[in-house]
Amino acid sequence: MKDQRLDRYQALGVTESVWVAESEAPRPTPRLASRLSADIAIIGGGFTGVSTAWHLSQRHPDLRIALLEAHVLGHGASGRNGGQVLHWINGVTAETPEALRRIHAVTQLGIDLAEQLAGRYAPPGTFRRQGCLEVYTDSQRAEQAHANVEAWRSAGIAAEFLPARALAIERACGAILDPLAGRLNGFALLQSMRPVLQAAGVMVYEDTPARRVRPGAEVVIETPSGEVCARAVVLATNADTPALGFFRREILPLHSHVLATAPLADEQWSSIGWGSWDGFTDDMDRIAYACRTPGGRLLFGGGGNPAYTYRFGGAAAIDVRVGDTASRFMQRALAGYFPALARAPIAHRWTGLLAITFDRICSMGVGGAHRNVYHALGYSGHGVALALLAGRVLADLYDGNHEAWRDLPFYQKRLLPLPPEPLRWLGYQAYTRLTGRSPRKQG
Ligand SMILES: Cc1cc2nc3c(=O)[nH]c(=O)nc-3n(C[C@H](O)[C@H](O)[C@H](O)COP(=O)(O)OP(=O)(O)OC[C@H]3O[C@@H](n4cnc5c(N)ncnc54)[C@H](O)[C@@H]3O)c2cc1C
Repeated sequence: MKDQRLDRYQALGVTESVWVAESEAPRPTPRLASRLSADIAIIGGGFTGVSTAWHLSQRHPDLRIALLEAHVLGHGASGRNGGQVLHWINGVTAETPEALRRIHAVTQLGIDLAEQLAGRYAPPGTFRRQGCLEVYTDSQRAEQAHANVEAWRSAGIAAEFLPARALAIERACGAILDPLAGRLNGFALLQSMRPVLQAAGVMVYEDTPARRVRPGAEVVIETPSGEVCARAVVLATNADTPALGFFRREILPLHSHVLATAPLADEQWSSIGWGSWDGFTDDMDRIAYACRTPGGRLLFGGGGNPAYTYRFGGAAAIDVRVGDTASRFMQRALAGYFPALARAPIAHRWTGLLAITFDRICSMGVGGAHRNVYHALGYSGHGVALALLAGRVLADLYDGNHEAWRDLPFYQKRLLPLPPEPLRWLGYQAYTRLTGRSPRKQG
């Protein structure tokens, strides 16, 4: 007899993101089917892994680089996110003009990299930079945002404050427009990177899940059909890293549910007052985010507790009924901002995994007894620019040329431990239900 319980849980690949629908069908490489030696093995084919492989292969044409991806490139958050490529680092508040300029400039490197890679390798329209909004739903917070914009501008940072009258978005009391932020179809970019990496000599194996990593002077990575022995390994598996036995105490894999409408007509875009910008986030603790896709669909995610799920032990598969509830909730949240879309047909629904850290700050570094286990992870929902940038940071660490990153909060950052199970699950459920907020270390 069929197990009904198993039917209720779907692996995350089952549902298709709007980015997949708007990309060419992937042409994955064959799985690893032998024993392989490499100088460096990268586990994970999202922005972190692909960017690291690209930077290293550009710098060192003779380096033997193996890239292992459990499914296809872009299967993870990089291919199923909100699409916004943003400045700033989640969890970090810059207190001085110098700190503001520094964090803005560093995160701009990540946005520039998205533009550069998409411009060189991906189909037209994959990346666009027309700016993103941060919408304020409270007049006091909007006033504070206005003051922040003035401080940024006097530090030489491009930003504009838009008052409520300039926005047709329901509930908006004002917004910050970041004109240098943009939108990326990450799935399309990563599909375009496959032949680029291969031409540069990177050995790309898709459909190749790492089952076990045995650290040592020579790291051994076991997969179901072969193994890789390498002098160094890069954990580019973000929310899936605890499943490999690393960062179990420090990373909380959190499901984030997303939907997208069918393509909207130009009149519909005008009727909801969507300007030329690429996307928006709001100022709530459980942020809502939206993006206009190249195919003219409106992507919407977040907006409250039901849009996020934590499963006991960080399990990745998702209960179908939870996905249904999240969808209904997000449709209402979407209509709250854009009432004209209350009946817009929803054509896509999917779920992705975020890697949340306790203070929301990500970490990029190298460790292990032989100093050959590299990692970059924990971007807490703000990782498009940062994960692309991580490839450059990790390549610099590999080259021993990393002084330029030393002052940044993510550099060799020790992540704070989260409570163990079952306290973690119980604490998460109790806190989110009682407060409607997400648990986090403040400050
Ligand atoms: C719904 C959602 C919306 C988001 N919206 C935004 C946004 O608008 N802007 C923003 O800046 N950030 C956003 N983010 C965050 C951002 O997408 C991520 O921080 C970023 O993509 C992380 O990239 P990554 O390469 O580190 O991880 P991933 O993209 O998750 O890649 C990890 C890869 O590793 C593979 N893998 C896992 N385990 C193994 C294994 N054992 N063996 C081999 N391969 C393995 C996975 O299949 C996956 O392809 C969002 C995330 C989600 C989930």
